[in-house]
Amino acid sequence: MSITERELLAMIERIFPQRADGLELGIGDDCAAIRPSPGHETLITVDTLIEGTHFSRKYTTPRDLARKSMAVSLSDIAAMGGAPRFALLSLNFTRTVDRRWIGAYLKEFRSAAERFGCVVAGGNVALAPRDLSVTVTAVGEVKRGRRVDRSGARPGDAVYVTGTPGDSALGFDLLRANRPRYRQWERRLMARHTRPEPRVAWGRALANKKIPSAMIDISDGVAIDLRRMLAASGVSARIGLFNFPLSKEAARIVETKGEAVWRRILSGGEDYELLFTVPPGRVKKLERLIAEGSVVAARIGQTMEGRGSLTVADRSGNVLALEHEGFLHGSE
Ligand SMILES: [Mg+2]
Repeated sequence: MSITERELLAMIERIFPQRADGLELGIGDDCAAIRPSPGHETLITVDTLIEGTHFSRKYTTPRDLARKSMAVSLSDIAAMGGAPRFALLSLNFTRTVDRRWIGAYLKEFRSAAERFGCVVAGGNVALAPRDLSVTVTAVGEVKRGRRVDRSGARPGDAVYVTGTPGDSALGFDLLRANRPRYRQWERRLMARHTRPEPRVAWGRALANKKIPSAMIDISDGVAIDLRRMLAASGVSARIGLFNFPLSKEAARIVETKGEAVWRRILSGGEDYELLFTVPPGRVKKLERLIAEGSVVAARIGQTMEGRGSLTVADRSGNVLALEHEGFLHGSE
């Protein structure tokens, strides 16, 4: 049975708490009122996930969607070096989702927020005629002077990436194949797509130590997002696939399917890892953070004088052609 707007609002008031540090006024009034921490800047970002465009309910449980909708917004806060504080949820539901689906979504949305020290401070619900969609606005903060923009890279900086980008796209391909059975290692890749982890702790650790000159999160793929950062900074870069941090699952696919898989790894997107540049004088400090396990990151290249172009060398050192948008040309 479908749910009415009034039932939904009652459910929301039950699930989301009214009190939190820094929250002067929570859900239930026309606006929430928040108190910024002294000496901090407020960060605000918004992202939408639309059924059919960004997810399919065939592969996405309400709990996965809740976590992912929170993750994509918190990833932007992480990319500035910030700490999440509040979230606003706009849920455009359809007649095809029932009370149980919405209840599961909302409860997991609350736990996802709590896990990152974030409080749901308000939102909106509306009945959509066709496509289910969720829009999450995240509010975070960063200590004045610690914010990391995407425009700060200078020639000669090292280019780093966190985690193992590409897993999400490879996992999505497996999901889409819709096979009756999957192996354990394939499921690990699929989970990287359905349950991405925003790199909030790593982003903060990097910003607090003033390590990155520029930073961006990977939503559309390493190639496209790196080019965005290069364009904003007014530099070019060369990256090499020789040292690229592949998960052992992704390495297995590259081994069996060949070099064409790199195109998916670099252009697939939805990794929500962090890409950042580091001036030469701060590389040692970063390598210490990596060695002690505070950040998981690998060096993939270097910036140089230029106007935003990206060169990619494969594992034998050959330069791969890149299309305008950053997609790799396939030879097959
Ligand atoms: Mg972003």
